[in-house]
Amino acid sequence: MNRQQQNLFSVDPDPWELDAMDDFLAARVVFAEPPFGPYDYLVPDPLRSSIDVGRRLTVPLGRGGRSMIAWCVELLDGRSGKVHGDRQRLRPIESVMDERPLINGAMLKLAHWIADYYVTPLGQVIDTIVPSGVRSGSGTREFTYFSIHPDFRSCWRDERLTEQQRQVLNELDRFAVPLTAKQICQELGCTNSPIQSLKKRGILEAEVVRAHAHQFAVAPEDKEKPLRLNSQQARALESVSKALTERKHQTMLLHGVTGSGKTEVYLQAIEQVIAGGRQAIVLVPEISLTPQTRQRFRRRFDRIAVLHSQMSGPERHWYWQQIAAGKVDVVIGTRSAIFAPVPQLGLVIIDEEHDGSFKQDKAPRYHARDVARYRAQEAGVPLVLGSATPSIETWQNAQEGQAALLSMPDRVEDRPLPIVSIVDMRVAGGNAAGRGVLSRPLYNAMEATLKDDGQVILLLNRRGFSTFIQCPSCGETLECKDCSISLTHHRDTEMAVCHFCDFEMPVPNVCPSCDFVGIKFSGLGTQKLEAEVRRRFKDVPLLRMDTDTMRRPGAHEQALNEFRQKRVKILLGTQMIAKGLDFPDVTLVGVVNADTGLHMPDFRARERVFGLVTQVAGRTGRGPKGGRVIVQTYNPEDPAIVAASHHDYLGFAKEELGNRRALGYPPNRKLARIVVRSEKEEMAQQAVETLATALQTYADQADGMAPGSFMILGPSAAPVTRLRGFYRYHMLVFAGRDCHLGELIHQATAAIRFPDEVQWIVDVDPLDMM
Ligand code: ADP
Ligand code: ZN
Repeated sequence: MNRQQQNLFSVDPDPWELDAMDDFLAARVVFAEPPFGPYDYLVPDPLRSSIDVGRRLTVPLGRGGRSMIAWCVELLDGRSGKVHGDRQRLRPIESVMDERPLINGAMLKLAHWIADYYVTPLGQVIDTIVPSGVRSGSGTREFTYFSIHPDFRSCWRDERLTEQQRQVLNELDRFAVPLTAKQICQELGCTNSPIQSLKKRGILEAEVVRAHAHQFAVAPEDKEKPLRLNSQQARALESVSKALTERKHQTMLLHGVTGSGKTEVYLQAIEQVIAGGRQAIVLVPEISLTPQTRQRFRRRFDRIAVLHSQMSGPERHWYWQQIAAGKVDVVIGTRSAIFAPVPQLGLVIIDEEHDGSFKQDKAPRYHARDVARYRAQEAGVPLVLGSATPSIETWQNAQEGQAALLSMPDRVEDRPLPIVSIVDMRVAGGNAAGRGVLSRPLYNAMEATLKDDGQVILLLNRRGFSTFIQCPSCGETLECKDCSISLTHHRDTEMAVCHFCDFEMPVPNVCPSCDFVGIKFSGLGTQKLEAEVRRRFKDVPLLRMDTDTMRRPGAHEQALNEFRQKRVKILLGTQMIAKGLDFPDVTLVGVVNADTGLHMPDFRARERVFGLVTQVAGRTGRGPKGGRVIVQTYNPEDPAIVAASHHDYLGFAKEELGNRRALGYPPNRKLARIVVRSEKEEMAQQAVETLATALQTYADQADGMAPGSFMILGPSAAPVTRLRGFYRYHMLVFAGRDCHLGELIHQATAAIRFPDEVQWIVDVDPLDMM
C-alpha cells in the first residue's frame, strides 16, 4: 500500500475512540550529537514502569531507524496536547538503558539554563554534567545473580535432579538471597554446569546487576583544630554564617589580599555547613589543586572528594556515586566539580574566582562562576567568591550591591605585604648586568637572598628558548605551517614548536625562503632564562616549571616538594608558579618581564597582567623573614604595572571600570563573540559577513531584544588568523546588560545554513579574544 492509498483508506476515528487513543505516554528526548532534538517518542506499555526523566534510552532515528542513545528529558501525557505528532506517527522507544536517573530534576533545570544561556544543545550540556565515566558505567561490571524461580521455590525437591543440582538448590535455599555462580561454585566446590542446566530448565532464574568492581579510598590524615580567627576573618565568617543560617541565596565577594587567610574562612564556613547536614562544593583552578591544598582540607574533614582532571574514569564514577549517595561532605575540584550531584547543597565557594580556567573553551562554553550563581540561587544557599584580585565583573557586582563585599585588607599576623620595586628596562643599559635578561638590581637581590639562605621565585610567562626565529637577510620569521603563529625554539629538543597546535619541525640551518645561512633567534623564553640563571648562579640548585617540564603526572607535586624541602633554591617558570604557593622562606620574587601579554589585542590584557604580577608578588613575605619583589618592565608607567607594584587593587579596579565604561565593554554591556572557520578563506569571510548582516537586520527590527546599546565590532580576521589549517574570522556582538544575547543570536541566525566546509561558534561572555 503506498502512502496515497493509505490516506484514502484511513478514516477519522469515531469521537468515542478519541479518548482511548490519546491516552498514551510520550517521552521527549534529546541527543548529545546532531540532530540534537528534541523529539517525541511513544513509550510502549512494557516500558512504562521503567522509564524516567534523567535516564537514557535507545530510540530509532532517521529513515534507516538507526538506534541512538538519547536523554529522556520530559514525560508527556498524550492528552496534554503537548506531544508533537499524534500517536500513530510516534515511533516507539526501543529500550531504557539506565537503572536509575543519572541526572535529577534540579540538575536538569540547571542544564536547561546552561543550554539556553550559552546557546548549546541540551543533550550536549547533559553529557557535560554527567561525566563520561558515569555514562559508561566505568569501573563497574555486570554480575549475574541466581535465585530459585518462584514457581519452584516450594516444590523443587519433587524434580528429578542430579546430586550436584540438588546441592546448588539447597545452597540457594539456605542463603535465601541471590548468589553469583562464582559464589555458589566456591561454596560447593562444583563447576558451573549444574547451575547452567538448572537455568535451562527454568528452575533457576538469573538477574544481571551492575556494581563497582573496585573501591577507592584515601588514607585519612591526622586531624587538626581550626585556627583562631583574627578580627577581619571573624567578620567575614560571620557574614557567611548569617547567610547560611538564614538559608537564602547571597553572592559574596571575599576580597582578601594574598596571605590574608581566606582558606581558613572557607574551612570554618564549611564546618558549619556539615554540622547542618549539608554539603559544600569548593572550586579551585586546576593549578591550585596542589597536595598542600588537598591536605589542608583532609586535615579538617573526613568525607571529602577531590575531583581533578587526571582522575581515571572508574575513579570519577565511584566518587560521583558516593557524592550522589550523600556520603561526601565536601567536594573540592576544578571547573566541572560545580556539577557534583550533592543531594543537599549548602554552600558553594570559588577560590581565585578571577581565574580564566573556570570558563570552558569548548561547548558548552560555560563559566563555572555563573553556573554556580544559578545553582546557588536555585538551592537558596550562599555563593562565596574569593580572590585577592577579583574579576572586574565580580567587582562591579559588589559595587552595585548584587554581591556582598567582605574585605580582608591585611595579611594574617600583621605580616606586611612585600615591597615592590620596578626596574625600567628601557634604561637597563646602565642598570643591566650582562645582556639584559637579569637587570643588575634583580641579579644583586638574588645574590643577597641566596646568601641569606632565602629562596627565589622568577616568573617569565613564556615557555621555550627563543620565542622568535627570523632570517636576518630576508626578514622572514619561521611560522607554523597551519597557524599564523611564529614558532618557538626549544633548545632541549632542537625543535621549532607551535604553541597553538604542537606542530614541530627541526630548526633549519638555512632560511626556508631565501637560503641564507645564519638564522637568528630572539625573544626570551623560560629555557633561555634557565640557561642564563644557571650560568650566572653556578651550583645553585634550580628548577624550571612550565608545561614542558611538568608533563609527567605527579611532576608538579614532586617539584613543589623539592622546593618546600629547600633542595631547590631558585624556582623559575610560567604562571604555573604564580598561584597559591605558600612557602615561608621565599624572600624574593622576580618578575622577569611584566610586559608579556600587555599588548595583546584583548580588552582584558591589563587585568591579566595586574592579576599575574599581584599574585606572584603574593608568593613572598609569607614567613617571619619578610620578602620583596622586583618587577622588570619596558612599560614602567603603565597603570596596571604601577597599581600592582602598590598592591592597589581598588585603584586599578576603579580605573579599569572607567575604561570599560568608556569603551562600552563588559561588564557594562553584554558581549558575545562569533568565530567562523573554514579551510577555504573566502568561505569563512563570506559566512561571517552573512552572520553579521543577519544579526544587524534582526536587531534593528527587534528593539525589545536589543535595547539601545546593540553593536557589532567587525567582522574581521581573528587575531590568530590561521589555526590548525583553518582560516578564522570573528566579530564581537555587544548589547545592553539585560539583553539575552545568546537568544538574540540564536533567533537572528536560526534560518542560516552554511556548507559543511564552514563551522562557526557563539561564545557568550567570552574570555578568549584570539
Ligand atoms: P590566602 O588564601 O588568603 O592567600 P591562606 O589561607 O593561604 O591565605 O593563609 C596564609 C597562611 O596564614 C596559611 O599558612 C594559614 O595557615 C595562615 N593563617 C590563616 N589564618 C590564620 C590565623 N587566624 N592565625 C594564624 N595563621 C593563620
Ligand atoms: Zn600551529
